[in-house]
Amino acid sequence: MVASIGTETATPRARPAAAPEANGGGVPTQVDTVVIGAGSGGLTVAVGLAARGKRVALVEAAQVGGDCTNVGCIPSKTLIHRARTDGSQDPVAALAHVRRKRDELRDRETREFGSLPNVDLVAGRARLLPPSRRARRTCRRAVAVTTPDGAEHIIRSEHVVVATGARPRVLDVPGLPAARLLTNETVFDLADAPGHLVVVGGGGIGMELAFAFRRLGSRVTVVTVADRVMERSLPDVGEALARSLARHGIALHVGTRVDSHDETTRTLRVVDRSGSRTDLEQVDNVLMAVGRQRATDHLDLEAVGVVLDPDGAVPTDGYGRTRVAGLWAVGDVTRTAAHTHSANAQGRRVVQRIALGWLPARSPEPAYPTATFSEPEVATAGTMRERLRCHPDLITRIRVDLATRTDRGYTDDTPEAFVVVDAIRLTGTVVGATIVGPRASEMVPLFALAVQERISLFRLFRLVQPYPTFSSGVQKVADGFVADTLGNLPREIGGYLRHRWARR
Ligand SMILES: Cc1cc2nc3c(=O)[nH]c(=O)nc-3n(C[C@H](O)[C@H](O)[C@H](O)COP(=O)(O)OP(=O)(O)OC[C@H]3O[C@@H](n4cnc5c(N)ncnc54)[C@H](O)[C@@H]3O)c2cc1C
Repeated sequence: MVASIGTETATPRARPAAAPEANGGGVPTQVDTVVIGAGSGGLTVAVGLAARGKRVALVEAAQVGGDCTNVGCIPSKTLIHRARTDGSQDPVAALAHVRRKRDELRDRETREFGSLPNVDLVAGRARLLPPSRRARRTCRRAVAVTTPDGAEHIIRSEHVVVATGARPRVLDVPGLPAARLLTNETVFDLADAPGHLVVVGGGGIGMELAFAFRRLGSRVTVVTVADRVMERSLPDVGEALARSLARHGIALHVGTRVDSHDETTRTLRVVDRSGSRTDLEQVDNVLMAVGRQRATDHLDLEAVGVVLDPDGAVPTDGYGRTRVAGLWAVGDVTRTAAHTHSANAQGRRVVQRIALGWLPARSPEPAYPTATFSEPEVATAGTMRERLRCHPDLITRIRVDLATRTDRGYTDDTPEAFVVVDAIRLTGTVVGATIVGPRASEMVPLFALAVQERISLFRLFRLVQPYPTFSSGVQKVADGFVADTLGNLPREIGGYLRHRWARR
């Protein structure tokens, strides 16, 4: 995570807090808030609270910056950028460049966050302790931290924020040696691009890395048990990416599971739903990108009264509050965030509640936009009609092909680019948008704003877009909606009244 993201919550001059008493090894005994995990969410909370004069102990078991800086957004986006520019000419140099950029940022963040006023950065693994009877009365919480020398220190505080993130899920593949298995935690440490990389999983992480390694010159095969890649998105997205994978020479096996590996021939056997087997030959590495599991083990959350969701998420309200007084959670460990921007946003909401508790707390947690930096990019905002509770006929769907309907699509020869917008019929209030195309991630905030502020396509109709841009597709969406609605007004009024209060 770039340091400036974390410091967004900070004011330049932090108010000094009372200096804490120290355990051995400089670990404080008492602070206002213990933050467990110095990734995107934890750093946002620590910086924000410290800037408001709260004393914070920020406990990190591995590296400052968490997944985003070390094994997620930063190395993957550096790789994608480098691979698109000159990666194929020298994959060794491209991967070394990724590591250099990652390490520089991590070192800078470690320095900056390690010297923040009011923050004690503690290297160690934290777990929650059940409150004593006295602590229960005073509402103070206790966290045990095991430092790298094996010593255990207790830190007491009024608040504890769990920001421990998630880890890659790994499938067991009989016969596959550990040395050939990669996850996002190891893939960026490769010295060279594999000759043949099999990516298991067709979600965002799998797609991004499949395209990037193909650009570095690897032969790439994607295997997914789902019916299509990006299965959580609209089917149009999966179809567009499947065509793009084929165009880039990436083999795709959908509805297929990994069965076993034969190391003597370096063959990975995969089996589709009909039982038909395919042997993928000369496999150098298998990258697992089959989802993430929340890092809640060893925290002893249950011992303090937290009941985890069946999928392991820490349940919170829209402001990061758990059901246990003084205990908060942000980031990947919660059920509503899986991105750096969502972890940051949640962190800011927790800062608001802890440090500025008098402010009203009524706004619902926003629907976070998503972005996948595949080729082409995929970005979403809000909720598409398939996942809404309202009657589907209340929603009008407008799809515009950016490739053929915008001049930028024409000049840039962009296949597979489109925008799909779902809006409430008649009123035009935008509820969801899916964009596939170059820089879709830069275009999606307009729709995120429209969803959050309940902006109508009638208003976007009046917005003038620069020419020639892909975002002129927004204009085309609005044009389409306005023409269809005003041209069929009696039908639209009837449809709206029939379905406005109807359930699915
Ligand atoms: C390959 C990849 C690419 C990604 N790309 C993007 C992207 O482009 N854009 C985007 O928005 N998001 C992206 N993400 C997701 C993003 O990285 C995460 O959503 C984000 O890092 C979550 O932040 P977090 O604070 O919840 O957890 P993390 O960043 O994972 O931080 C959790 C920290 O807690 C520490 N910890 C865990 N347990 C303990 C403990 N008991 N005691 C002390 N410390 C502990 C961990 O060591 C870790 O440093 C990507 C993820 C991956 C894997």
